[in-house]
Amino acid sequence: MEIAIETKKRVYRFGDKSADGNSTMKNLLGGKGANLAEMSALGIPVPPGFTITTEVCTEYNALGQETVLGMIKEEVEDAVNNIARIMGTEYGNVDNPLLISVRSGARVSMPGMMDTVLNLGLNDEVVHGLVAKTNNERFAWDSYRRFIQMYGGVVLGMKPESKEDIDPFEEIMEHLKEKRQIELDTQFTVQDLKDLVYDFKDAVKKRTGHDFPSDPWEQLWGAVIAVFNSWNGDRAVYYRNMHGYPAEWGTAVNVQAMVYGNMGDNSGTGVCFTRDAGTGENVFNGEYLINAQGEDVVAGVRTPQQITKLGSQRWAELAMVEEADRAQNYPSLEELMPQMYQELFAHQATLEAHYKDMQDMEFTIQDGKMWILQTRNGKRTGAAMVKIAVDLYKEGSIDEAEALLRIEPNKLDELLHPVFDPKAIKRAHIIAQGLPASPGAATGQLVFFADEAKKFRNTILTRIETSPEDLEGMNLAKGILTARGGMTSHAAVVARGMGKCCISGAGALKIDYKNRTLTVEGKEYHEGDWISLNGSTGNIIEGKVATIEPVLSGEFAELMAMADKYAKMEVRTNADSPKDAKVARNFGAKGIGLTRTEHMFFEVDRIKAMREMILADTVKGRRQALGDLLPMQREDFEGIFEAMDGLPVTIRLLDPPLHEFVPHQLATQKELAEDMHISLQAVKNKVAELQEFNPMLGHRGCRLGNTYPEITEMQTRAIIEAALNLKAKGIASKPEIMVPLIGTVKEFLEQERIIRSTADEVFEAYGDRVEYLVGTMIEIPRAALLADQIAEHADFFSFGTNDLTQMAFGYSRDDAGKFLPIYLEKGLLIVDPFEVLDQEGVGQLVQMGTERGRKTKPQLKVGICGEHGGEPSSVEFCHRMGMNYVSCSPFRVPIARVAAAQAAIKANMVH
Ligand code: ADP
Ligand code: MG
Ligand code: MG
Repeated sequence: MEIAIETKKRVYRFGDKSADGNSTMKNLLGGKGANLAEMSALGIPVPPGFTITTEVCTEYNALGQETVLGMIKEEVEDAVNNIARIMGTEYGNVDNPLLISVRSGARVSMPGMMDTVLNLGLNDEVVHGLVAKTNNERFAWDSYRRFIQMYGGVVLGMKPESKEDIDPFEEIMEHLKEKRQIELDTQFTVQDLKDLVYDFKDAVKKRTGHDFPSDPWEQLWGAVIAVFNSWNGDRAVYYRNMHGYPAEWGTAVNVQAMVYGNMGDNSGTGVCFTRDAGTGENVFNGEYLINAQGEDVVAGVRTPQQITKLGSQRWAELAMVEEADRAQNYPSLEELMPQMYQELFAHQATLEAHYKDMQDMEFTIQDGKMWILQTRNGKRTGAAMVKIAVDLYKEGSIDEAEALLRIEPNKLDELLHPVFDPKAIKRAHIIAQGLPASPGAATGQLVFFADEAKKFRNTILTRIETSPEDLEGMNLAKGILTARGGMTSHAAVVARGMGKCCISGAGALKIDYKNRTLTVEGKEYHEGDWISLNGSTGNIIEGKVATIEPVLSGEFAELMAMADKYAKMEVRTNADSPKDAKVARNFGAKGIGLTRTEHMFFEVDRIKAMREMILADTVKGRRQALGDLLPMQREDFEGIFEAMDGLPVTIRLLDPPLHEFVPHQLATQKELAEDMHISLQAVKNKVAELQEFNPMLGHRGCRLGNTYPEITEMQTRAIIEAALNLKAKGIASKPEIMVPLIGTVKEFLEQERIIRSTADEVFEAYGDRVEYLVGTMIEIPRAALLADQIAEHADFFSFGTNDLTQMAFGYSRDDAGKFLPIYLEKGLLIVDPFEVLDQEGVGQLVQMGTERGRKTKPQLKVGICGEHGGEPSSVEFCHRMGMNYVSCSPFRVPIARVAAAQAAIKANMVH
């Protein structure tokens, strides 16, 4: 990439009720920086500071540390001095010091994935100045030891050496706590804190060979570089890849005056949400800690208390704490500091009204003054996403189109997952109770380390607390359980973002990493033991619990109705059985876009007849076997037509290569030989004969029906007879017979001739008729090229984008596993083209096929039935192509409906 080293603005200031930037500048200032600027201009009390742009991060990656620091030095120094001016202090001054934080912040929020350092500017002299200035010795030394701890970890690489180890600084603190027989950080004396500072610095020297940097400016540059580096750290890279965020974005760096939540009992810090991020309920909620600094709440060091009285009461109910005890020992902020609570409440209301979305905020109370340190659109579960969007619409804050655009279609999937069967829950043995941090039902085997989350098929990752390093394991586990941390802990926030079931703060759990055990009230559980988590109630349950289908909320139905108003395309489903068809109809499918008939042949009683058909050497033999299959196939279609009750049903004729049906194991081959009264050798010969060098390009698709016309005849007969049988019962059906893998016009014509003449025979025999269509799949590039000719005969087109992708790329789907993952890792491909339609290349074939087809037949019905039919960006593409419908698996139908609506809305916005 080209980088201009011209003089441009690289530092944007905020504070004092004004700002250089605003919330629309997220790409340049990162989400945190843009929102700090916006809040500052809104008059929200934000500590003054500035943002070094994401462009500088990119420049750093290209040009290196020295050049970039040279480029920003002056601007940064001026901006630091500006903060000092506003605060009436000076950075590095011993008597009147300014302390600052250096915070990461990419354009999208990546909670905890990058680094932040607090309390920069402290050293052995400044700490004395801070004591004198604040008259608070304990606070000054507490800040200093926190600074060395954070800076040491983030900038100087003082991390645990192995996964069983704890943080080297934590270890020193644990030792001291043991020696002093205390439990909490807050119980350290001033002398303890001084000792810690000394020991921490000693540990740094021992491990790194260097003294801890005492020059405040050196500290600042070190932290800025560390934040830039954290953009390419393991956690951030994993998170970025998971979400498809490109490396070019970079992170901004926010430098901000420190405000102190650790100044005593009139100070504190917390995190709050304007609505419930788990359920979407419109209740203000959050957690706080008295006498603590920001990261304490998120890191789950101490389990925090609830901000609102209602939240505190709900918590007490779960924790089985008596009301009197609760009010006394676990008061809410609302009760403890009513004035601070009022202010916080007002700010959250202002910010939600301003951003018109649920906000996730950080605040710090310094000696009775409220400061807001961050706001962002809060991460939420799928259920909360739907409820909040619909509620905001009903409250008049956003319109319907905006509500629909707020939906991340893929997250709807979470709502459709099974939940625990209430009857099974009643009988279950609840071993402990935690906080319902992220709803859902999870059953799995216990594992204690994130990198072992794949050890069993279904795992419950159980940790004292999670850290951002655990992200990958959290993603792989079925559920997450932590002993510490509240509803705003890292585990909780990340789990909700992933839509993963999570219980946090289950204090009764004793976790022993070394022995890999979990002990609750004397009972020991081991790695591999089964447990279940109910993320909606916080119940931790022994063993497995049965699940049932979820009940969908009223808001879900309202959202879907909204989507249908805007969508121009219909959503159909891919379904091979009446059961799938019913599920899909419940999710709002308007028809079936693909019934794969071969799936029906794999069932036990049918596969035999199918094999006999394949093994038959004569047309007569084949017809006989097909005769056995006919009634079964007819019954299948009757079931599906009935389930769809008059909606169109597209049925694809037999498609896969025949060798997929024949037995490959000796025992089954013997059995078949006996059944058919032929020799084992004959079976073996036939199997060998069916072997193909390249089955994906071999004897399959319409090539089967054209070489064995009796297969097409039988299938047509089954379809038409099913429709007529239902008609006799007063049930309508709309069969659409689809010919697969057409490459030439004649291939289609031959199949069409067989289908129509067979249908006529059936009509004659029944003395009745039904309407039906004969169309084709467009999945061989040649068919897309000749679409104008094919459309002269075909009633409809359906793009089979799985095969089309395979043939356009020349990637065999069966062999792609050998190279696709490597291609993705190396960035040779950005996404898997079998998941996300390649609009640039394969898309051209789709566009050409659609346009050429419609040139011949303007009203030609066009749809898509590959896996892409339920993938939001591909659905949007189909809308732009002017398709009539997309078809996808039943559980993706709601996703496609919303994606179709969003496509229509976005297309409208452009005009
Ligand atoms: P993350 O993106 O991981 O949340 P942040 O940059 O928001 O990291 O900072 C971590 C914690 O430190 C937050 O709780 C934040 O509120 C707190 N914090 C950051 N800067 C300051 C500051 N200037 N004064 C007081 N607390 C701060
Ligand atoms: Mg933050
Ligand atoms: Mg195909």
